[in-house]
Amino acid sequence: MKLTELPPLPESQTALQAMAYTDPLTGLGNRYRMRDRVRLLVAERASDPAPFTIAIANLDAFKPINDLFGTEAGDEILCQVAHRLKACVPDGATVTRHAGDEFAFVLPLVFERVGGEKFGQMIREVLSAPYDLGDRNVRLSASFGLAIHPFAGEDFDSLLKSAETALYRSKRRGRGQITVYSDDIAREMKRATQLEQALRNAIISDSIDVHFQPIVSLGNNAILGFEALARWNDPDLGFISPAVFVPLAEERGFIDALSEALLRKAAEAALAWPRELFLSFNLSSAQLMDPNTSSSVLAILARVGFDPHRLELEITETAVMSSTETAHQIIGDLRVAGVRISLDDFGTGQSSLGRLRDFAFDKVKIDRAFVSRINTDRASEHIIKAILSMCEGLDLKVVAEGIENREEAEKLRTLGCGMGQGYYYGKPVDGVATLRYLQEHYYDFGERGSARD
Ligand code: C2E
Ligand code: CA
Ligand code: CA
Repeated sequence: MKLTELPPLPESQTALQAMAYTDPLTGLGNRYRMRDRVRLLVAERASDPAPFTIAIANLDAFKPINDLFGTEAGDEILCQVAHRLKACVPDGATVTRHAGDEFAFVLPLVFERVGGEKFGQMIREVLSAPYDLGDRNVRLSASFGLAIHPFAGEDFDSLLKSAETALYRSKRRGRGQITVYSDDIAREMKRATQLEQALRNAIISDSIDVHFQPIVSLGNNAILGFEALARWNDPDLGFISPAVFVPLAEERGFIDALSEALLRKAAEAALAWPRELFLSFNLSSAQLMDPNTSSSVLAILARVGFDPHRLELEITETAVMSSTETAHQIIGDLRVAGVRISLDDFGTGQSSLGRLRDFAFDKVKIDRAFVSRINTDRASEHIIKAILSMCEGLDLKVVAEGIENREEAEKLRTLGCGMGQGYYYGKPVDGVATLRYLQEHYYDFGERGSARD
């Protein structure tokens, strides 16, 4: 008889089974325990139509704690969390740990959203008290995603997926948020999937367009260049804002394909402009985390035959922050090739003066939010003044965005802002209309402009 054919001893069999259902670190049940519990409840509720709820709790910013204090301290916190959760879950409820800093609950007596939110608030409160690490105390918050059976899913997998979607929404809103999966979320998910499919098709059929908005010298109103802005008009879905479809392409992982198509189109169109005009192009934050970005940008310019010295890339602060090292590398490589870098939407994100020093930028674009209030709100005027004097000291050029009338333009000019952009000078228009705009507004376009070459 082979060893494996020996009948297992009864104790060790139960011990093995218990192990398979237990999280070794905290002693809580694991994912399999939760799955079995949910399956059992689903079977029971087949005859009893009462709903039940599952919840996921994920600690906020746990990774930095692990990195800062070591994994041992991290493990200690996870054990303390488990201890607190075990002590406070209601009768009949189950708490499990799935992986890392993620815990889950099965709540047979929570039937609807308000009850789910109350449960989340209670757990959030329990987890917010300081954690004792011997020589120091640490505080943590947690985010929650909840899903109610059967509305958010009929079986374990779909219910868990809905709870994860709800958790993802909580995380996107910041720390300590509670989201219960709802019909609204389901509809939004469906729409996002529809949109994603349509966007993929539009990229394949090359039907995403690029429009151009002039950037001028505030001193003499001369055109200096244009910012490229993506436009998508879907035959079925209608006009969709780039503020919607660019983040969608980032989230679903095909921003590189979209951005490549846009840059190619923009550079091709810009070939017809006077050579001294620049093209300003928006890079998405996801592209600053992708080490291939610089070579792909330069390859497109080479293919189109567009001089890298005429290109500016607009990036945002959040983009630079999320992956500093890669971003440094990309910006460095592009600048060596002659591409200039603008810091977009300045003043809205987590602006840090240090970042202006650490990164080699050429230009700063002051966000529309300040520009539109410059003549009505003293604080905005002071902020703009401060940005201007700081940029002067750092030898950075400045563009004010969103100038809509003469008063704003005048004010910015007297404050010493060099460049401006906005509806007052021109709305974004397509390539053909841009050439017309140049003919009307660019003083010597036609004599030495390349359109005639
Ligand atoms: P952004 O880079 O800050 O672009 C400026 C936005 O302000 C544009 O909106 C533009 O049409 C609008 N705008 C310009 N002047 C005025 C004005 O005087 N008044 C008002 N109210 N608005 C003005 P748009 O085209 O809807 O773009 C929204 C955002 O989408 C952009 O913000 C940018 O972050 C992103 N985006 C647009 N095109 C692209 C692209 O090709 N690639 C990437 N990665 N992002 C893009
Ligand atoms: Ca921009
Ligand atoms: Ca901007």
